Amino acid sequence: MQFSHIVGQEHLKQKLIQNVRDNRLAHATMLLGAEGTGGLAIAMALAQYLMCENKGETDSCGTCSQCVKNEKMIHPDLHFMYPNIKREPNDKIQASTTWIKEWRDTILSNPYINVIDWINFLGKGDNKQGNITKGDCHETIKKLSLKTYESPYKIQIIWLAEYLGLEGNTLLKLIEEPPKDCIFILVVENIEQVINTIISRTQIIKIPPIDDQEMKAHLIQKYEISEDNAKKIIRIADGSFSTALKLLDGDENTNDELTMMFLKCSFKKAYKQPDAAKLMDSMIATFATLGREKQKNFCKYALFYLRECLLLQQGGRTKLEGAELDYAKKTIAYIQPDQFEKIHLLINRLHYHIERNAAPKSQMMSTLLQTSRILAGEYVLVDS
Ligand SMILES: [Zn+2]
Repeated sequence: MQFSHIVGQEHLKQKLIQNVRDNRLAHATMLLGAEGTGGLAIAMALAQYLMCENKGETDSCGTCSQCVKNEKMIHPDLHFMYPNIKREPNDKIQASTTWIKEWRDTILSNPYINVIDWINFLGKGDNKQGNITKGDCHETIKKLSLKTYESPYKIQIIWLAEYLGLEGNTLLKLIEEPPKDCIFILVVENIEQVINTIISRTQIIKIPPIDDQEMKAHLIQKYEISEDNAKKIIRIADGSFSTALKLLDGDENTNDELTMMFLKCSFKKAYKQPDAAKLMDSMIATFATLGREKQKNFCKYALFYLRECLLLQQGGRTKLEGAELDYAKKTIAYIQPDQFEKIHLLINRLHYHIERNAAPKSQMMSTLLQTSRILAGEYVLVDS
């Protein structure tokens, strides 16, 4: 992958390129950024740039034999570790290499995939828990002890090092004293889940959310969508290109109506209005027929809407417009800031469960009931 294919992150790309050119790149680098900001794509562009035989000032050449093999993810000195599962329940081995074909195909078509989608894909939607095992670590140690084949560097990319868990200790010595010309690039989304001994051995480079304008330009140019549509997507994507891609796929025009329906329904239930039950049934049924991706998109929109309502309530500038803005102006008169925050947490949790294949009807029912209790002024404990 070349840097030019990465969405936004212009400043960061320049910084990484400069680090390589000045010979200042640490032998173990941690790229730390939220889901969808491009950690894996940046790691791959960095690996290609390091190996490229004709590095330019702003990118790898894209045509030398090192670049060509990197582009296809088949360079013999480029290695990957990533969360995975056993192929068959009785398999003795669980390692990244078992899935290398699926990995290449998937990442070549979407380097911004999120880990839940990746594991769901491996487990065929069977709600499996992915991890990076000790066996994986041992394979890596063996691979990295061999001499390089074609490049001056051996590069090990670990996508989501938080999935190493305590197994990560197996790799410590290697990260601390790597074999000659060996470079580790760790991609991390949740640093609090990475063991401290690994954190202390890496140089951390933070990846910011993707700039709205850069993302908008990319969406319009690459996907040929209207400026208006791109604007709608980036405000919900909130700096994540994974989210933007999902929103691109769906017809998002009904999310605002559904969010208003969700709140209306919760209010009616809270104020014990006679038609509350009927409206609730209808809300749950509508939600259930959406399909999982659209259910998640609804959650993303609702989260955006609640954030904007809170902002509006505090006198800030909002990205809401038209009917959604009119409804928000009414909504903020009836919902207190702490209630907004709790409902936001509930929707976040709804998204979490839907992403992990929970039953949509019961999830929506429970979210509606809790939201209505919050709106009725009852004390509801919501874990973050
Ligand atoms: Zn090249």
